[in-house]
Amino acid sequence: MSATDRPPRALARAGAVLEIDLAAIAENWRRIAARLGPRTRCAAVVKADAYGLGMARVAPHLTGAGCTLFFVATIDEGIALRRYLPDVEIAVLDGLLPGTGGEFRRANLIPVLNALDEIAAWRNGAGTRGLPAMIHVDTGMSRLGLTRQDLAVIARSPEMLAGLTLRAILSHLACAEDAAHPHNAAQLSSFRAALAQLPPAPAGLAAGSGVFLGADYHFDFVRPGAALYGVNPLASGPNPMAQVIRLKGRILQVRDVDRGETVGYGAAHRMDRPGRIATVAVGYADGWLRSASHRGSAGIAGRRVPLVGRISMDLMTFDVTGIDPALARAGSFLDLIDDSHGVDAVAAAAGTIGYEILTALGRRYHRLYRGEAG
Ligand SMILES: *Cc1c(COP(=O)(O)O)cnc(C)c1O
Repeated sequence: MSATDRPPRALARAGAVLEIDLAAIAENWRRIAARLGPRTRCAAVVKADAYGLGMARVAPHLTGAGCTLFFVATIDEGIALRRYLPDVEIAVLDGLLPGTGGEFRRANLIPVLNALDEIAAWRNGAGTRGLPAMIHVDTGMSRLGLTRQDLAVIARSPEMLAGLTLRAILSHLACAEDAAHPHNAAQLSSFRAALAQLPPAPAGLAAGSGVFLGADYHFDFVRPGAALYGVNPLASGPNPMAQVIRLKGRILQVRDVDRGETVGYGAAHRMDRPGRIATVAVGYADGWLRSASHRGSAGIAGRRVPLVGRISMDLMTFDVTGIDPALARAGSFLDLIDDSHGVDAVAAAAGTIGYEILTALGRRYHRLYRGEAG
């Protein structure tokens, strides 16, 4: 770089910079695939814009790692993904909304059928062509999927599935991040009972956390999401996944604040000594949840500085007393998410889970994708 090089203008204007490491996402996919037997396929869940990280960049990169089966939540997400990936299998977890069958067929999307009337509606469109479908059975979430009563109806009238090509039968675990939870084994045995009542088809029970429950839970395919993006799939213990994102927030101003002065809305933080406050250009409108007020922290120069006062829409304030003013100065950055303080740590300070931190990541961040070639 010559001395006259300037960062791109958008970067110069950015109040925060979000780095997304595509190579780390592919690495996480491979780490999960490596835990599976040779006959278990590793899919990828890219719903909610790949958990906020950008499906358009993430999904094609995962095909490079070997992924050929993708799950999205909505038909719109499926239609968008189809434009980037003409050849992969795309399944839509929310299922078939009335009147959308034609769009499913045109975009070559597979509905995950969650109820008997969805099965009937998809079959009506299928004619004799054997349209692909997946079936979701509920084994203990009471959220989506066929109930035990629905399964009994199908067992009595197997023609209800005639004309469909069953690409998968799946269910979803409620407590998989806690390996000791008895609900896991209960769901596993309900899932086996459901499979026995349905025609043979590739079976899938585990999302990311379920993979770590062991081979009994792997069946024919697994569908990790958050773990690919660096969230710890285990409720306790070290994170087996690679960190994927880094977020730097720009300091707009640093000011000396006297003892007794207050910081931010509600005058909710009062200085108990003279100090220095750095104001950073990130707020709850950027997904920096207001529940992290008074509790969050950031990194600078190898140290952690506390978030003080309430998080505002566009700004938040850190106590940088004692940090070298040459580093904590207007225009420089604080590390809001980095390798030593990842999404799970940020989530803990906000009283939530890494999933919510990722999917809330702001639209105002300047995004830099790394590791494209890997
Ligand atoms: C979101 C979702 C997944 C992915 O779950 P993660 O916990 O992110 O791995 C898998 N299956 C279903 C049905 C889901 O809704």
